[in-house]
Amino acid sequence: MHQSKGKTALITGAAGFLGSHLTDRLISEGWHVIGLDNLMSGSLENLPEAFRSNRFEFVEADVIIPYDINADLVVNLACPASPPRYQADPLHTMKTSVMGAFNACEVARKNNARLVHSSTSEIYGDPEIHPQVESYRGAVNPIGIRACYDEGKRAAETIIFDYNRTHGLEIGVCRIFNTYGPRMDPYDGRVVSNFIRQALLGEPLTIYGDGKQTRSFCFVDDLVDGLMRLSLAGPDCVGPINLGNPTELTIMELAEEIRNKIGTQVRIEYKPLPSDDPTRRKPDIAEARSKLGWEPKVMLGDGLDRTIRYFDALIRSDKLADYQIADNARYSMVAG
Ligand code: UDP
Repeated sequence: MHQSKGKTALITGAAGFLGSHLTDRLISEGWHVIGLDNLMSGSLENLPEAFRSNRFEFVEADVIIPYDINADLVVNLACPASPPRYQADPLHTMKTSVMGAFNACEVARKNNARLVHSSTSEIYGDPEIHPQVESYRGAVNPIGIRACYDEGKRAAETIIFDYNRTHGLEIGVCRIFNTYGPRMDPYDGRVVSNFIRQALLGEPLTIYGDGKQTRSFCFVDDLVDGLMRLSLAGPDCVGPINLGNPTELTIMELAEEIRNKIGTQVRIEYKPLPSDDPTRRKPDIAEARSKLGWEPKVMLGDGLDRTIRYFDALIRSDKLADYQIADNARYSMVAG
């Protein structure tokens, strides 16, 4: 791959948080992009720039059904990624990961295209090794509430590596750690989107458990840069490669950081810790540094400022209510 101008990328999950940013970046670098999404957790609101380009095409489809699309590069991002979202319809989440992986492999194989697949830090479960290196095999509860996503994503890695071994499919697998930034769904239940939305609306910040659990947050532009490098890397760069920001902090520290930015008068409300919630998480990114020449550049404070401005604009333009209505409709749709 390696001349991008005029080539076509197929992005599954293009209307999602990461997919839409990657779509914009590929278009800005001369690619044609075909974005595929079932709009279950993604939104066309994320693609205003893409729809203004004559190098963008959108296909509403579910990756669990085989599809036939011509492309030089396939990037498989389709899957709800926030715990409340992927747990809302766990069987569909498993199908999305597993059948989505088969279908992405098949379409890439028919096109002789490179397949870039977004795996996840959830592969490591509640990790006993810290920070998490790619060689660590993880500690996942196979029958817990997170398993539909964790085990689905683990099976997807198996499928993709077996396609590489049995069909010679060119693959690049990354394991994405917590990522935040503009276009996060304000109601998808993730910690950064919850805290910023709550603080801006003057509502208490909901900390689950004692807030001592840790995460490491990567700003979306950095993450997309890593995805681009993995997409353009040669066939030897198969991964899996961790992509994330190694700056680790407790959820309590994140709450304090956001309160300091938006309003220290905002209260904190403690809620029960969901089961199997990982105690700590931090990527070892030595592999990404050496294989992709990649490391995150955006400091947490700057990334949060940019995310807060995005959420603030949503509130000021009265769009927050639209997201809430759309989310309620989706949740009732999957529930019943
Ligand atoms: N969390 C929290 N309050 C919230 C949402 C999440 O304390 O309103 C915690 C959650 O229990 C987890 C961490 O924040 O320990 C990150 O949660 P998130 O859903 O963003 O992603 P995860 O890394 O768990 O997939």
